[in-house]
Amino acid sequence: MAYTQFIDGSITSGHNSGSWVNLNPANNEPLGEVHPASGEEIEAAVRSSEKAFQSWRTKTGAERGRVLTRTAQILRSRLGEIAILETQDVGKPLAESLAVDVSSAADALEYFGGMAAGIHGEFFDLKNAFGYTRAEPLGVCLGIGAWNYPIQIAAWKAAPALACGNAMIFKPSELTPATALELARAFMDAGAPPGLFNVLQGDGVVGSKLCEHAGIAKISLTGSVPTGKKIFAGAASQLKRVTLELGGKSPLIVFEDADIHNAVSAALLANFYTQGEVCSNGTRVFVQHKIMDAFLKELKVRTERIKVGDPTDPDTQMGALISKAHLEKVLRFIESGKAAGAKLLTGGLRSEKDFKGRDIRAGNFLTPAIFTDCEDAMEICSDEIFGPVLSILSFDTEEEVIRRANNTDFGLAAGVFTNDIRRGHRVIHQLQAGTCWINNYNITPIELPFGGYKQSGLGRENSLAAIQYYTQLKSVYVELGDVDSPY
Ligand code: NAD
Repeated sequence: MAYTQFIDGSITSGHNSGSWVNLNPANNEPLGEVHPASGEEIEAAVRSSEKAFQSWRTKTGAERGRVLTRTAQILRSRLGEIAILETQDVGKPLAESLAVDVSSAADALEYFGGMAAGIHGEFFDLKNAFGYTRAEPLGVCLGIGAWNYPIQIAAWKAAPALACGNAMIFKPSELTPATALELARAFMDAGAPPGLFNVLQGDGVVGSKLCEHAGIAKISLTGSVPTGKKIFAGAASQLKRVTLELGGKSPLIVFEDADIHNAVSAALLANFYTQGEVCSNGTRVFVQHKIMDAFLKELKVRTERIKVGDPTDPDTQMGALISKAHLEKVLRFIESGKAAGAKLLTGGLRSEKDFKGRDIRAGNFLTPAIFTDCEDAMEICSDEIFGPVLSILSFDTEEEVIRRANNTDFGLAAGVFTNDIRRGHRVIHQLQAGTCWINNYNITPIELPFGGYKQSGLGRENSLAAIQYYTQLKSVYVELGDVDSPY
């Protein structure tokens, strides 16, 4: 199998130099070879997207919306086959790829497909004149994806971009080249013009060439803070528009009056879904002193019940980390936590057998880890680990926990568990985070804006808010009288 480019409506056959093997995280066996886009392919993709943009921008919103809605239907009809590709590429449980990844991609296409006909400017009644605005598209937008939610990230960017009349070139992560190609196929089968959604494979080298290309009007990245900073700095030289969805080290605060069972459910969701490889994860779990013992007791039992194993098994609840290198990085964090004096309550070991007794030593499996006795300054509590490692921090007062929760350069997400409605809102309003939950965690409906404060990002995805990041406003003044000139 070769992962090549999708340009102007079809897959390229060119086998380029500098290719690498894409490995299945569950067994480290090859899935295929990734061929990074050549300089000529980059030029061809930009030319083809510019051409598609010129025709697409003239379509009505309703016409564009129909293509997006049909694409959503096609994704749903291919749910099983795309979900298996995602699971093989990422190592996440099939149950997740089926329930979340492909479905949330389709949700975004339906949402923005439905909205496309309603994207409009405003009318202004003026003195003997009137004015209006037009929400015009930007041109060819570049989407760059991370490896944890490949098709969801591609669709969260493509759906609003295309609804607004733009074209998109999408570069998936070098570790997960498969499902962006499926999204491209679905767009074409739904009747999109060739070039409207092109896919170029490659790592940061291809990514940065694309970012610098004069034919790219806007960049939307989902990735780490260091990559976001590089892209933002590079974009400044051409004053390109940039949306950044970056990393986090988010707090989940559990007050003593919370429903403990629900709070534990949320802490598990906030740390162990997709092997803990989720940007918005609540990895700093602050638990009020009085309920610590009861909270830990239930958390430990339920964590040890998580079924780690073959991601394609429908009963599996936690799969394999994306790569050997990433597994080793997470293991280094676990060692650092132990060395700093935190107590490993459970997990944090390489798994040898899965929950059905199968040998899984060849894959990148790790048992879900809980650290207690943590302190804010420990590396495990300050750095984004991006793996199944939950850190428990104890607190006494509301004022104290708000100050400690905000003491980070990140600001992607935050959660609060309490049965006091006033405290829930009061605390959330003081947390420096863009995406917040009261009495739940990591729920991201398409209707709500998603994005970060501080170094976790710029701009928003999903919801009506996304439209402003894929359009530019043109103001038009129309005179109904004579020109009043002093000359
Ligand atoms: P990464 O920053 O290493 O890579 C992200 C993408 O950027 C990849 O496609 C990569 O090839 C590309 N890239 C790297 N250097 C580049 C450059 N100089 N110019 C252009 N492109 C470049 O991140 P990752 O390891 O793939 O993903 C994990 C990170 O993504 C974590 O920090 C996680 O929190 C974050 N993330 C954020 C969100 C969100 O919505 N906020 C969602 C998922 C993941």
